[in-house]
Amino acid sequence: MDKIDLILLKYGEIALKGLNKPLFERKLENNIKSRLESLGRFSVRRAQSTIYVKPLEEGIDMLEAIERLKKIFGIVNICPVRKCEKDMDAILKTAVDCINSEPVPKKTFKVEARREDKKFPLNSPQLCAKLGGQILASIPDLKVDVHNPGMTVMVEIRDEAYVYTSKIKGAGGMPIGTNGKASILLSGGIDSPVAGYMIAKRGVEIEAVHFHSHPYTSDRAKEKVIDLAKIMSEYCGKIKLHIVPFTDIQLEIIDKCPKNFLTIIMRRIMMRIAEKISVREGSQALITGESIGQVASQTMESLAVTNSAVDMPVFRPLIGMDKEEIVEISKKIGAFETSILPYEDCCTIFVPKHPKTKPNLKEIEDAETALVNIDELIDRAIEDTEVQCVMRNS
Ligand code: ATP
Ligand code: MG
Repeated sequence: MDKIDLILLKYGEIALKGLNKPLFERKLENNIKSRLESLGRFSVRRAQSTIYVKPLEEGIDMLEAIERLKKIFGIVNICPVRKCEKDMDAILKTAVDCINSEPVPKKTFKVEARREDKKFPLNSPQLCAKLGGQILASIPDLKVDVHNPGMTVMVEIRDEAYVYTSKIKGAGGMPIGTNGKASILLSGGIDSPVAGYMIAKRGVEIEAVHFHSHPYTSDRAKEKVIDLAKIMSEYCGKIKLHIVPFTDIQLEIIDKCPKNFLTIIMRRIMMRIAEKISVREGSQALITGESIGQVASQTMESLAVTNSAVDMPVFRPLIGMDKEEIVEISKKIGAFETSILPYEDCCTIFVPKHPKTKPNLKEIEDAETALVNIDELIDRAIEDTEVQCVMRNS
């Protein structure tokens, strides 16, 4: 990959069945443009279900461009290509160059061809056969192996000829912005960034709501959440992060409600605040990182009681996952190292010794009647919420 003329992106038309294809394509193109913008000038255009990303100036870091493209939902394959004229001599020369610049030389190969330009005199099988023979004649050490090749030389005949030997797996999913908007309740832990990533992958734009308990939680804890939102933004695009001051509400709950109900009541109020912010922002659902049985506040009973605090749909993409599975995704998306930094979260500082594991709604609602000023406190917290637009690499 030492010389890349441009990058072809494939977006897998199967995923488009029944979907609005023009919307999908337009959003994907725009997401690509905005993610690459800070690297230099590119042309991004589309033809025959392929997006062409071409650098328009010298010295652009194409490897970094590929790294960014790997995190854009909706892309299935990323092909760094060399281009040449549509004649066999030029194609052979470019193919041999590609083979010779493989970092580890391969012993076997096969050719795959795709003729989009039907005016090209050879059809795809003929092109494969001819180019395969010419490569064999030019590089005597190489052998053909069509079943288990060490390398596949791919040729696409379009407006020009494009030749490449590596096809990088993209992030899959659907382009952000094709499926509405939802709000992730983002803590500083491992789970919630993964939950946000999973819903974003389905094309959902993400906003984030974080509850902060200054001075019980430090500025470092807040910075950590901003860092996590930045990591998520590499996949989700710009994230509007709402940082809600939660201390007064927590102190009120501690003062007025039974200790063992503390966590569950706190979680219900978090949901109510997140719902209010979401309605205002045009977000259509809440997302949490909850998983059945992970902690006392995530038993079936607790989840039901938490859920009934709001009317909005609540998405819990990790609900049936084990911690190890969640950690695996957290590592894959690059959030894990930040998530495990040891800063306190507002849920952990006031944890009761014996949290109620099987609450019923009636007893919790009864306990909440003691919070006579709660609506005012909620409104004030929302009013005092700090908003940051978070985006990495912009
Ligand atoms: P995580 O690993 O995401 O921090 P957790 O294991 O700490 O979650 P809980 O504290 O029970 O689990 O939180 C469950 C979910 O509630 C989190 O995944 C997140 O969606 C939300 N949540 C918890 N604390 C906060 C917070 N301070 N701000 C926003 N959301 C929160
Ligand atoms: Mg958790």
